[in-house]
Amino acid sequence: MLPTLHERFPLREFNTFGVEARARYFCRVRAAGELAALAAEPTLAGLPRLVLGGGSNLLLTGDFDGLVVKVEVPGLRELGETGDAWQVEVGAGENWHAAVERLLAMGRPGLENLALIPGNCGAAPIQNIGAYGLELAERFDSLLAWDVETRQAVRMSAADCDFGYRDSVFKRQFAGRRVVLSITLALPKQWQPVAGYADVAHELKARGISQPEPREIFDAVVAIRRRKLPDPAVTGNAGSFFKNPVVTREEHRALIAHHPSLVGYPLPGGRVKLAAAWLIDAAGLKGVTRGRAGVYEKQALVLVTRGGATGAEILALAREVQEKVAEKFGLWLEPEPVIV
Ligand SMILES: Cc1cc2nc3c(=O)[nH]c(=O)nc-3n(C[C@H](O)[C@H](O)[C@H](O)COP(=O)(O)OP(=O)(O)OC[C@H]3O[C@@H](n4cnc5c(N)ncnc54)[C@H](O)[C@@H]3O)c2cc1C
Repeated sequence: MLPTLHERFPLREFNTFGVEARARYFCRVRAAGELAALAAEPTLAGLPRLVLGGGSNLLLTGDFDGLVVKVEVPGLRELGETGDAWQVEVGAGENWHAAVERLLAMGRPGLENLALIPGNCGAAPIQNIGAYGLELAERFDSLLAWDVETRQAVRMSAADCDFGYRDSVFKRQFAGRRVVLSITLALPKQWQPVAGYADVAHELKARGISQPEPREIFDAVVAIRRRKLPDPAVTGNAGSFFKNPVVTREEHRALIAHHPSLVGYPLPGGRVKLAAAWLIDAAGLKGVTRGRAGVYEKQALVLVTRGGATGAEILALAREVQEKVAEKFGLWLEPEPVIV
């Protein structure tokens, strides 16, 4: 059945930057059949489409002259098990953090390092969400997606998704083509804490915990995030605005020679991931304000609105950050959110 279409629909409440923008058409979708009906609707033929979850990883730079499809597929159920994992299917429209917490309460831990990441479950595979030493890919079984071109539902394995650092096929060849309907998680039967990440280790130590239970990691991660990151309900933002750049060992050596305090983390294979927040801070931009947009004072990787910034203002600030970092370090920072 064709979902209700809203015209000239305001999107301010549907993006965590709180940017004012309108969609020519907007609808909510709870099942694949509704996507099929949308595909067959002549008034929508040829219009650009934007799939929307919680709007926490996108920057709207103006009105969207097309159809915004907000995916609201519900549900959370245990499907079965493999030798080492519980398989749990979660609808794309379920809130990510609520699902993490619910699974924990059901005795299915494994996602606690990813607690409090805003947004919905359907968007989690798009950039392979990650935080505090864990990525979705490590807890992923498969997903069900609607293919806009073939107009069929397809099951995709982890290999099909080709996950990378804040990356997957959904940001490349399947961008705009596959709509995630549900994800199936693989949660370890033999749970082990992931507590090696410095912030998590410090927080647990400060709490006097040496052998953490899943709930204790969850609480530690929530506490760290509440301290460090702006709450989108209070200060508009989309989390980290830039990816941490990855350089070769030689490039790293050359940079360190000029900037001895440069922060980097060695990756397997000899490459080094640099802390983009450090680069932005060293370029003198931490805490700056440009119009109604700013670089967050407690974490330079986060761009914020200081109340009512337009998408264009935020984009101009992002460009300034990219240019100043490029001038000083010869590195071009890549944005993490999707710019629409
Ligand atoms: C305060 C804050 C902290 C954050 N911290 C982290 C963090 O630690 N780690 C991290 O990885 N991210 C983080 N993020 C970014 C963001 O929360 C995640 O990327 C999240 O998965 C986005 O979910 P969403 O539902 O809001 O996606 P949206 O913003 O709605 O969409 C993001 C992209 O995914 C696409 N998309 C959404 N749903 C679907 C679907 N069902 N099918 C196909 N495509 C879809 C959209 O078209 C868009 O391209 C943070 C954001 C904020 C505001």
